Amino acid sequence: MSARSDERRAAASVLVIGTGAAGLRAAIELAERGVQVLCVGKRRRDDAHTVLASGGINAALGTMDPEDSWEQHAADTLREGYWLSDPASVELLSREAPAAIDDLVRWGARFEREDDGRLTQRFFGAHRYRRTCFAGDYTGREIQRVLVHRAAEVGIEVRDDLYVTRLLVHDGRVFGAYGFDVDDGSRWLIIADAIVLAAGGHTRIWRRSSSRRDENTGDAMRLAVEAGCRLRDMELVQFHPTGMVFPEGSAGTLVTEAVRGEGGILRNAGGERFMERYDPERLELSTRDRVALANYTEIAQGRGTERGGVLLDISHLDRDLILRRLPRMYRQFVDLAMLDITTTPMEVAPTAHYSMGGVLVDPKTHATDVGGLFAVGECATGVHGANRLGGNSLAECLVFGRVVGIEAARWSRALDVQVRDRAAVDEAREEVDELLARRGDEFARPLQRALRDVMSERCGVVRSENGLRDGLARVREVEERTIALEVRPDLAGYADLAHALDLHGSLLAARATLACALERRETRGAHNRVDFPRQDAALQVNLTWTKDGEIVRQPIAEPSAAVAALAGGPNVEVAGRLLE
Ligand SMILES: Cc1cc2nc3c(=O)[nH]c(=O)nc-3n(C[C@H](O)[C@H](O)[C@H](O)COP(=O)(O)OP(=O)(O)OC[C@H]3O[C@@H](n4cnc5c(N)ncnc54)[C@H](O)[C@@H]3O)c2cc1C
Repeated sequence: MSARSDERRAAASVLVIGTGAAGLRAAIELAERGVQVLCVGKRRRDDAHTVLASGGINAALGTMDPEDSWEQHAADTLREGYWLSDPASVELLSREAPAAIDDLVRWGARFEREDDGRLTQRFFGAHRYRRTCFAGDYTGREIQRVLVHRAAEVGIEVRDDLYVTRLLVHDGRVFGAYGFDVDDGSRWLIIADAIVLAAGGHTRIWRRSSSRRDENTGDAMRLAVEAGCRLRDMELVQFHPTGMVFPEGSAGTLVTEAVRGEGGILRNAGGERFMERYDPERLELSTRDRVALANYTEIAQGRGTERGGVLLDISHLDRDLILRRLPRMYRQFVDLAMLDITTTPMEVAPTAHYSMGGVLVDPKTHATDVGGLFAVGECATGVHGANRLGGNSLAECLVFGRVVGIEAARWSRALDVQVRDRAAVDEAREEVDELLARRGDEFARPLQRALRDVMSERCGVVRSENGLRDGLARVREVEERTIALEVRPDLAGYADLAHALDLHGSLLAARATLACALERRETRGAHNRVDFPRQDAALQVNLTWTKDGEIVRQPIAEPSAAVAALAGGPNVEVAGRLLE
């Protein structure tokens, strides 16, 4: 098949797919090293998912608690990841996070400071010390602003609204990517020595999700798997304990953990402070998985509100403090629910929030199974094990964004010859042509909804063998219905084509998630099996998943002795140590 007349061509030493924190940080590193880089995203760069991050970013700076150390940060991360994290990744993250904050500050990030100029650091649940830097509750937006600005400063070419449909591979190595412009449908063929995949996670495949529409639809997983990568630990999905319950259109929208960090209290409909039963020591500052399970249980056992939530109350705190520390939450509830959180409790319930599993990468370089392809940010796996600590994801994006920048630059510089494969390009073209030509009576949006219902009903906070098997069967039914999928771009653009491809990504991610959840016959971290309610030492392994559905158990390396010693201690005592 020959090139289309509306097909545009571009070449870059390194192509970065994703303009969130991870992608932009990688691109900045590449540009600073003199490597020509093109960075693309399917939506606007100043509105990538990263802007939603609110609570903060972790680094053991010790500005508030000088006894903190990177080793303690690593120990907290490993322990709260239920020993499924990769120790080498965790240690690298913790060691390099302070330098990542320095970079952001140097580029102009306006983090909260103490009167004497020190960066303020707050507690986040299950951290031993205060190590979370923040910018009000707009931390992600502030980091994104700084990265977008820095990317422009170092002359990076960034293209918004460019949807990548396929990675181009020959003989186990990438040589480019194919895609289309979401506005006008024009096609893009991009040739590159190396690719950094930073296209986010898959939490939007649940009905109640803290992502916005059309984000985190599993694109990264589909692109990687089609290119020849394996996925790992896809069942490990963090359900944030507190998503909004109403209005329905905003259900799942996050209520930041900072609300509990500032002193928010959880109560059931009977007014009971129920965390006293689930974690009497840490109460509302327990880990996310425990608070999510507690909220789920209260609601499932009929102690929730009429709308199906529990109450999160912060009205006992000073109004000015709430407005200063949680301005976004205040505005969110006024705008979406006409509710004043300084006087009235919020109604909340668990919401799918973070993909701890994802594309399998080398723990130190983030190289994937495919030559020249690196994965980073929420789409990659390794750091968070079975339960991510709040504030660690932004740190991961920045630390490993820099790492993959260095590694992709090295790959590009060392490349002598690159073979391109015409057949691979033709296949990518045909995939889009075929989707556009398909005619039938199914549409992407209702099928996305059907899939999200299946995942919520069968693979939510609590799972079971029968439920998961039924879930897999129902996902296959949705998959079959895509044969009759009708894609109709119109004057408003090619969003319909993007939705269809999002759906394909979501289906693949759902299959992998259900299959891994079935295989993990234990309860660990965010993964709760009613039929296997205990942790099983034999399952302290990672589960890798391949396109043909094969699942392999992978042993986990030992952490360094110093970190292991710190991780072995008792649960973190938080009484009297809330904030400054
Ligand atoms: C409400 C909320 C609050 C959070 N708060 C915190 C917090 O306080 N601290 C913390 O550490 N973490 C937090 N997180 C998690 C954190 O925000 C994310 O994990 C992180 O921002 C992910 O960044 P990323 O760069 O990996 O991906 P994203 O920011 O999701 O960016 C993905 C990029 O890939 C692009 N893309 C996707 N598919 C395609 C495609 N097919 N073609 C082209 N481009 C594509 C998108 O357009 C986007 O540019 C929060 C998350 C949410 C939802």
